[in-house]
Amino acid sequence: MTKARGSVLLIYTGGTIGMKEDAADQALRPFDFSSLMQEVPELGKFALGIDSYTFEPLIDSSDIEPGMWRKLAELIRDNYDSYDGFVVLHGTDTMSYSASALSFMLENLDKPVIFTGSQLPIGRPRTDGKENLISSVEIAGSREADGSATVPEVCIFFNDLLLRGNRSTKVDASGFEAFRSPNLPPLAEAGIDIRYNRDIILRPSGQTFGIKTKLDTSVSILKVHPGITQRVVEDILLGSGTRAVIMETFGCGNAPSRQWFLDIVRESSARGKVLLNVTQCPRGFVNMDLYATGKALKGAGVLSGGDITTESALGKLFVLMGESDDNEYVKAHLEDNLRGEISK
Ligand code: ASP
Repeated sequence: MTKARGSVLLIYTGGTIGMKEDAADQALRPFDFSSLMQEVPELGKFALGIDSYTFEPLIDSSDIEPGMWRKLAELIRDNYDSYDGFVVLHGTDTMSYSASALSFMLENLDKPVIFTGSQLPIGRPRTDGKENLISSVEIAGSREADGSATVPEVCIFFNDLLLRGNRSTKVDASGFEAFRSPNLPPLAEAGIDIRYNRDIILRPSGQTFGIKTKLDTSVSILKVHPGITQRVVEDILLGSGTRAVIMETFGCGNAPSRQWFLDIVRESSARGKVLLNVTQCPRGFVNMDLYATGKALKGAGVLSGGDITTESALGKLFVLMGESDDNEYVKAHLEDNLRGEISK
């Protein structure tokens, strides 16, 4: 780790943002973060010290694993008292999964943890990486008049928008407007100034910061679709290695009403599995009281995900299941709003 005077710790995990074209063969390779100030001299204009930590090895975020989230949480915990905020440079492909998981792993957070990345490498002329990085550092270091952090949350900053991490989703594979939080307005928008939406930014609990690193990942995702077969539904809902299933359903939480489908859901529930209903629609929420097909799921023991994203549901389940081997404990807390991930 390179330690400077500062109060923002930059953690580089990999992804496009930290790449630079190698003059020798024009291939994209990660650049050395100890020369970050040379690459992005604008960072020197903040009245902030910026230290950096580079993960070893750097990874494409498609390779992200819960072990990496654990390492990130531990790094933030170990440096928590030394910095005002943290910026995590991360590939965009799984950034919403990581930001969601971290939001549940970090408890009683009172400092900003801002994930960012880019669609074009920092070393490219039209890069979005510099702007994303500079604004993320500014947000991570921003404090209110009373000295408290302006945004004590796990967020994603991308293309002028600051989004709650566990509400975000990647919506564009190639454009600069790559992230949205369809069910929650942005926490801030960057124009000439950064305009914070203070009414919806979470305030700290006032309790001691801590981390949860025990994760149980035995979760499956069942995306229902016309033509889905009994065999596929059985494999996922009754699979022996699965403690919980996120059921991605139609509209406001509807699924096929065929008898065999409901019988499998009931059997899965009777075996004690945790079943969570999440809508396939990017916007809106699950309401299982609206249609007969939804009512049948609720009657079979399926819980409502409300307006949670699949990325967030996954992180929430990993953490709750890590806390207890008892599925009844998980069910009792799954519909609670733990980190602003659902509208209540
Ligand atoms: N494949 C890259 C990653 O997610 C893409 C990116 O960084 O945007 O690591």
